Amino acid sequence: MTTPVGYKRRGLLIVLSSPSGAGKSTISRLILERDPQLSLSISVTTRTRRPSEVDGVHYHFVSQREFDRMRERGELLEWAEVHGNCYGTPRDPVEQALSEGRDVLFDIDWQGAEQIAAAMPDDLVSIFVLPPSGPELKNRLIRRAEDDEATIMRRLTNARGELTHYADYDYVVVNEELQTALAGVNAILMAERLRRRRLVGLENFVETIVEAL
Ligand code: GDP
Ligand code: ADP
Ligand code: 5GP
Repeated sequence: MTTPVGYKRRGLLIVLSSPSGAGKSTISRLILERDPQLSLSISVTTRTRRPSEVDGVHYHFVSQREFDRMRERGELLEWAEVHGNCYGTPRDPVEQALSEGRDVLFDIDWQGAEQIAAAMPDDLVSIFVLPPSGPELKNRLIRRAEDDEATIMRRLTNARGELTHYADYDYVVVNEELQTALAGVNAILMAERLRRRRLVGLENFVETIVEAL
């Protein structure tokens, strides 16, 4: 990313994880709308499409056969089985975005976060989104009204295990008031973008300042 002052920055990988219904998709959507430096990694999944979802925008919806083919060919940066479906991150768009100096946002589960952390530890920033309470998590899953009852129950059962993984993340954001949670994620992004080790060519930049004194 070229900045007005003439040094560059390496692209960041930002992972948002949470139990289903905590609000990570809502947070991702709003952050992406306002941040042109950020692209969403669009996962492939074998899950059926929800009524509000658009193929190629929220996910690439694929058959199990197509998913297995991608996995076998090494086209996935990471993949995992979550709530009985397969999800994976296509490798090419991530590498393309990073090479163009853009940051990439991932809405993936803890297993995916672990795999990306192992592959690219220096570039990863991980954020765990917590719901404000157990009853509120239930309410949100029910209110979203996009999954059938058995799916909601399965996701609530899985939430217990998923919640234990907050401890492996760099940051934790409680999504009680949406605007406050958004401000938290934006603050993390801004601070991480300013980390000195991500800035390339800083030495030359400082030299030009010194020379012009
Ligand atoms: P949500 O929990 O309501 O966002 O439901 P989704 O169906 O969108 O996601 C289901 C689970 O799969 C979540 O735990 C996601 O974090 C996870 N997930 C989504 N995309 C990926 C991916 O590309 N890789 C992996 N490993 N997990 C993913
Ligand atoms: P996830 O992607 O983590 O499964 P969603 O983003 O789909 O969660 O959010 C689940 C439901 O909760 C959605 O109906 C969403 O509109 C709602 N929601 C998200 N954040 C908040 C919030 N801060 N307060 C109230 N409702 C919220
Ligand atoms: P949903 O089915 O509600 O869209 O997603 C369920 C879970 O799968 C969420 O926790 C979501 O973050 C996760 N998920 C979605 N795509 C991926 C992916 O590509 N990889 C991994 N590891 N998890 C994913």
